[in-house]
Amino acid sequence: MAWDFETDPDFQEQLDWVDQFVRDEVEPLDLLWGGLEFTPLSDELRPIIDPLKQQVRDRGLWATHLGPELGGKGYGQLRLSLLNEILGRSSWAPIIFGCQAPDTGNAEIIAHYGTPEQKERYLTPLLNGEVFSSYSMTEPHAGADPTMFTTTAVHDGDEWVINGWKFFSSNARTASFLIVMVVTNTEISAYQGMSMFLVPTDTPGVNIVRNVGLGAEPDGEGSHALIHYDDVRVPDDALLGGEGQAFAIAQTRLGGGRIHHAMRTIGMCGRAFDMMCERALSRTTQGSLLADKQFVQGFIADSYAQLAQFRLFVLHTAWAIDKYQDYRRVRKDIAAVKVLMPGVLQDIVQRSMQVHGALGVSNELPLARMWLAGPIMGLADGPTEVHKVTVARQVLRDYRPSDDVSPTEHRPRKLAAAREKFAQYLELEVGNL
Ligand SMILES: Cc1cc2nc3c(=O)[nH]c(=O)nc-3n(C[C@H](O)[C@H](O)[C@H](O)COP(=O)(O)OP(=O)(O)OC[C@H]3O[C@@H](n4cnc5c(N)ncnc54)[C@H](O)[C@@H]3O)c2cc1C
Repeated sequence: MAWDFETDPDFQEQLDWVDQFVRDEVEPLDLLWGGLEFTPLSDELRPIIDPLKQQVRDRGLWATHLGPELGGKGYGQLRLSLLNEILGRSSWAPIIFGCQAPDTGNAEIIAHYGTPEQKERYLTPLLNGEVFSSYSMTEPHAGADPTMFTTTAVHDGDEWVINGWKFFSSNARTASFLIVMVVTNTEISAYQGMSMFLVPTDTPGVNIVRNVGLGAEPDGEGSHALIHYDDVRVPDDALLGGEGQAFAIAQTRLGGGRIHHAMRTIGMCGRAFDMMCERALSRTTQGSLLADKQFVQGFIADSYAQLAQFRLFVLHTAWAIDKYQDYRRVRKDIAAVKVLMPGVLQDIVQRSMQVHGALGVSNELPLARMWLAGPIMGLADGPTEVHKVTVARQVLRDYRPSDDVSPTEHRPRKLAAAREKFAQYLELEVGNL
């Protein structure tokens, strides 16, 4: 009997330490320096941040998504999930633990497809937490359908020349390099005709036209860049993986990225849920605590059950990734988790806001900001609808059409088969009458 829902005591001890450390040492950073997470450290911040990262390293918890050969512990997705549930409570925590998106996914593909020189140049500083990276795939006119991308790279001597637009390249403004997905062969299918390039952000021709913000962020201060690649020249060895490999690389990257978002989302939901419960036990109206009102009890019960369901699904998917070591084999469940994520987050945060009354929607609580993460999770790494299509297609692979005009569960058909199976007994019964 192999089912086991327990965390081994040694790792639980680590998780308990992380929980306390994030609450005491890291969450205050969110309040004082929120928004600077992806900016290279200033002289002012370095003496605060470096010792925290060192504590994480000393506990063996730095970059745990990576194997030992890359300086991580190689804990696997299941342990990473339990860790990320805690880190998801805070915007600085993933940085302090060296496992922040989108750098984790970017590191993963360089580790997987990069040459030794590319690893030395890009991966090593990324893993040391000293630089940031950006993934530049979406275009202004096309996101969910990469076959519509038009940004190209044309071979010219021993260089490639990149031209075109990219949209929503997160953290490009502070990243030291970009991973850009472009068309390298217009004559063949996009699935074989697109490639990935590693492009230093300061390469001439990389023009960040605008930094788009989310929700009510002030104009120009967002971190999602609209970029024009204007005759950007990179050498042959800037190609990541082989020519025409972009789709395969993107799948490697996005598979991990999506499940990591789900892990952190559990943490965010847990925080909103804790807040809701505390408020229900603290606020009295019309003669009784909110905790005693049936509507509020309904909020708590629904949120508890929704979060428990979602968490088990994420943990099971993480376990399956560890078991098969192949994102493609777990594609259906990664997509299903991705589909559920925005709804679970929005439902729980919305209920928590409601229970907090006016304070809940104010900028004095973190709930309104968390709430925006719901629609964001429904888009980042691909829209919900596209993932639903993936789930349905993968599910249907395990089914066959009925071999008859009536469904196999049609009662008359099953009854006829049952009668035939037991014909000799039925005849006897009739004969005895
Ligand atoms: C916070 C955030 C960070 C991001 N970071 C990055 C990044 O770092 N790098 C990057 O390259 N991109 C990034 N993106 C972009 C993201 O990948 C795209 O937003 C996403 O792929 C959808 O593309 P789109 O916005 O162009 O929407 P579209 O492709 O125009 O789709 C719009 C809507 O159309 C519907 N739709 C689309 N396709 C289908 C379909 N097949 N069936 C049914 N309905 C469909 C859906 O409702 C969808 O939401 C980020 C997005 C967000 C919100």
